[in-house]
Amino acid sequence: MADTYDVVIIGGGPGGYNCAIRAGQLGLKTAIIEMRKTLGGTCLNVGCIPSKALLHASELYEMANSEFAGMGIGTGKITLNLEKMMEQKADAVTGLTKGVAGLMKKNKVDHFHGKGRIAGKGKVVVALEDGSEKTLETKNIVIATGSEVTPLPGVEIDEKQIVSSTGALELESVPEKLILIGAGVIGLELGSVWRRLGSQVTVVEYLDRVLPTMDGEISKQAKRLFEKQGMIFKLSRKVTGVEKDGKALKVTTEAASGGEEEVLDADVVLVCIGRRPYTDGLGLETVGIEPDKRGFIPNEHFKTSADGVWVIGDTTHGPMLAHKAEDDGTACAELIAGKAGHVNYLATPSVVYTRPEIASVGYTEEQLKEMGREYKTGKFPFMANSRARTNHDTDGFVKILADAKTDEILGGHIMGPHAGEMIGEIALAMEFRAASEDIARTSHAHPTLSEAIRQAAMGVEGWTMQM
Ligand code: FAD
Ligand code: NAD
Repeated sequence: MADTYDVVIIGGGPGGYNCAIRAGQLGLKTAIIEMRKTLGGTCLNVGCIPSKALLHASELYEMANSEFAGMGIGTGKITLNLEKMMEQKADAVTGLTKGVAGLMKKNKVDHFHGKGRIAGKGKVVVALEDGSEKTLETKNIVIATGSEVTPLPGVEIDEKQIVSSTGALELESVPEKLILIGAGVIGLELGSVWRRLGSQVTVVEYLDRVLPTMDGEISKQAKRLFEKQGMIFKLSRKVTGVEKDGKALKVTTEAASGGEEEVLDADVVLVCIGRRPYTDGLGLETVGIEPDKRGFIPNEHFKTSADGVWVIGDTTHGPMLAHKAEDDGTACAELIAGKAGHVNYLATPSVVYTRPEIASVGYTEEQLKEMGREYKTGKFPFMANSRARTNHDTDGFVKILADAKTDEILGGHIMGPHAGEMIGEIALAMEFRAASEDIARTSHAHPTLSEAIRQAAMGVEGWTMQM
């Protein structure tokens, strides 16, 4: 006889496991199906967590080499033990994925290890590891199958020489020459890791700017700072092919508009031109769901076109971010339980964990112009912030955009130390629909980096005081 559930979630990433926890808390009989050995999805296994472990360690390595002496800290010769660095990354992943498994137990969620597929209304079949199948019957199915790397036609990923982010997190030695295809988040984060460890990093980007979805001023200054750190950018160019010649790679590029060929040498090529929804073999046709042209499953308040089938996270629209997937999962479980559930993507922050960090929430200046919305701007550089100066970490600035008439905060953009932690203040302000004056008149401890946010907010009405 089939096991019966209130909710069966397919996919154990941040979307799926948070949906499961909330469903469990709300007393729904819940199962989660994950085909990977461990829970946690892309984020914990091959995404956010391992990349941040390498970003943290490589940042300390670079600081030890180039900044400690200036602060009066003497060291012996700094050496790189890549194996050990990879080990501490693996430890972080193992600890956290085990933690998620513990949370499933705590919230009485049944965990099935295997590939799940929808087999008609209210039915999910799990292909278990031993080759057998298990059928689950359920009132609700939540699709949380996440995303996969977008391939580049003509460039075959082998995860050794031509890698996706997954291979780039596992390289066994530091490549002498690393070429990145795509100057987005993954390119700049993983490019930073390997540059700090000694690679010469060249980035080929199709558009005429790095981090194209970020505020224009931020992406302009980011490019300048990454260039200062040693990255080489080839903007408005595309890769037309990668040829293997033993251990060497020849990367052919041409202008995005065609012509002007240039061949670049590399040891490793990282393809990071975006991610696309993953719904292979999911049985969507058995319930009549049709993904859109880009593969995303459309939803209305997480409901798909099929009765009793919901979708969350990277598989549907909105930013492809772990905390977005988590918020989708929570709201979806609440809706299934008959409660209210809503996610405000405008107040969902996005962070690039480079040095300096880059964080953004709400609208960019370009978006406001395109919308024809009248706005005011306040800006403050970290060069004028006492804590940043004390820490010798002054690159970047804070920018606040507010409605010209109501002063409501419409966007916040931070490039600078701990930007990822600080953006939370602006996200919270936006959730409360605060005015820039609310931040400007809120006490911020001295000396802290967050004073730069306050000064930028003061700048909206033209009364920045510390500059
Ligand atoms: P996923 O995390 O992709 O989880 C989906 C899970 O479903 C997977 O484990 C998959 O194995 C499983 N699955 C798929 N199909 C089936 C099936 N049929 N049966 C059973 N299981 C199935 N986001 C951030 O917010 N911050 C970051 O710092 C960050 N860093 C990143 C770094 C890298 C290198 C990458 C690649 C991504 C990063 N992201 C980051 C993005 C983040 O990982 C994703 O947005 C997030 O994981 C999406 O969560 P999800 O639950 O929708 O999907
Ligand atoms: P991305 O969308 O951030 O960047 C892709 C870049 O590749 C863009 O600049 C795009 O213009 C460029 N591009 C596209 N096609 C190209 C081509 N043919 N040639 C050259 N350039 C091309 O994608 P990503 O960096 O691969 O990251 C994938 C997803 O993972 C993103 O949605 C991101 O949100 C998520 N992620 C988030 C974090 C984080 O939050 N810190 C970290 C890593 C990944």
